[in-house]
Amino acid sequence: MATNRTFTMIKPDAFAEGNSGAILKMIEEAGFKIVAMKATQLTKEIAGKFYEVHSARPFYADLCAYMSSGPIIAAILEKENAVEDFRKLIGATNPADAADGTIRKIFAKSIEANAVHGSDSDENAAIEGAFYFSMTERVG
Ligand code: ATP
Ligand code: MG
Repeated sequence: MATNRTFTMIKPDAFAEGNSGAILKMIEEAGFKIVAMKATQLTKEIAGKFYEVHSARPFYADLCAYMSSGPIIAAILEKENAVEDFRKLIGATNPADAADGTIRKIFAKSIEANAVHGSDSDENAAIEGAFYFSMTERVG
């Protein structure tokens, strides 16, 4: 079922560098409404569960270590065509390939430490949002 929501994380590199505010400003100025948001730090195990789809990839262990290396901000965002529009706003996985003006082009340090996560489908947006937020934490 199509939804108008996506899920994002401001990853440890962006949080540690003090870029969370600037990134959230770009997200809001692009027309996304923040429906739920929290700062937290993942354990390696939880990061591993979140990125389980990549468990066979050579970068998986490093990715789990990186994603649990410091605080992150998790948020559910609402906008028409949210998933696709948010992927456009964040840009390509590798900042070297990301279009000018995208969040990753501006803030990402590397293909791994790439500043933000964005859901890749409506189905995963719902799964990922539920993974981080219980019903009582959700607004709207
Ligand atoms: P995300 O799911 O975090 O929004 P994405 O959908 O653009 O990113 P994926 O292919 O799902 O990219 O990869 C998940 C994450 O794994 C990337 O965002 C990045 O942090 C890391 N990653 C992906 N490819 C590599 C790689 N070749 N080397 C190191 N890390 C990688
Ligand atoms: Mg992905």
